[in-house]
This record gives sequence, C-alpha cells and structure tokens, in this order.
Amino acid sequence: MHDRAGAQVSSALGVSTPAIEVDPALNFESLAFSHRASHGALDYLVCDEAQFYTDSQVEQLARVVDEMDVDVYAFGLLTDFRGKLFPGSARLLEIADQRHELQVQARCWCGEPATHNARLHDGVQVYDGDVVLIDDGSTAKVTYELRCRNHWISGQAGPMADRYKAAG
Ligand SMILES: [Zn+2]
Repeated sequence: MHDRAGAQVSSALGVSTPAIEVDPALNFESLAFSHRASHGALDYLVCDEAQFYTDSQVEQLARVVDEMDVDVYAFGLLTDFRGKLFPGSARLLEIADQRHELQVQARCWCGEPATHNARLHDGVQVYDGDVVLIDDGSTAKVTYELRCRNHWISGQAGPMADRYKAAG
C-alpha cells in the first residue's frame, strides 16, 4: 500500500520504507545518482503506477539499469478503460528486459478472469473520455469495474449493477 500523504510504502508484513512521489517532471536518472551519492549504494528501484510514467521517464529507467547496474521493478496496469495500452506501459513493454503478468485473482461478475477495466458513468459503461479523470463531483458518478473481455465489449453489467442502481 502506498501512503501518499506520508510518502511511505508499507506492507501487510509491517515493513515500510520511504517513498518518492512521481510526477512527470521527476528524472529517475538524477534521482538514482543523487541517492547513490548520498547513501553510497543503490541496489534496486521499485516503481508503482508505472502506467502513468512518460516515455522519457521509462527511458531514464532503462539507463539506470544499463549504466548504473541497478535493477528496476516497474508495476502497473497494462490497459486503460478503453482497452488501450497506457503510454507508460507501452514504452515499458517495448524496452523492458522481462515482462511478467501478475496472477491476480480478480474475476468478472460472470466468473471468468477479469482482464479489462470498465469505467462506468452512473453504472453505465463508457468507452470514451480522458484517460485520467479528475472526479470533481460535478458530473456523473464514476466507478470502475473489472470485467472479462466479453462483458467489457458488450458493456453488460452483472447482478451487482442492479443492486447499485437500486441503492443509488
Ligand atoms: Zn464476464
């Protein structure tokens, strides 16, 4: 879990370590060099939400691997709610040494493995819109639901959606 306010990463095992929040202006090469300079060593970087990284940030990570002999582990979602690769994930797929699909237990409401992320406006799936959406409360209630590809394409909601409507 990433606690943004405290800039701390902690795990269920109780292990925690300081975290650095990434914005598009952050340069990973500079970060790695300055960390090594001040701490004497840098063994690896763990990068979360890497789907939001810019192309050049992903390329910086590659140089950290190649020129500083540092291992980089980048984690993120592959595709957005439109079923398109996030730019950061696309660049990672292009240049990463290894790719691993994590075995997540997420299931669609029908029981099939959930491979797609549906964005719902007031419970109805939408396929267009900004990739990064700031919910300012002025528009439809935006929620996300994991679905299999079949139900992501059809937009068909499961029994939970009826409950959602009834409750809403
Ligand atoms: Zn399904």
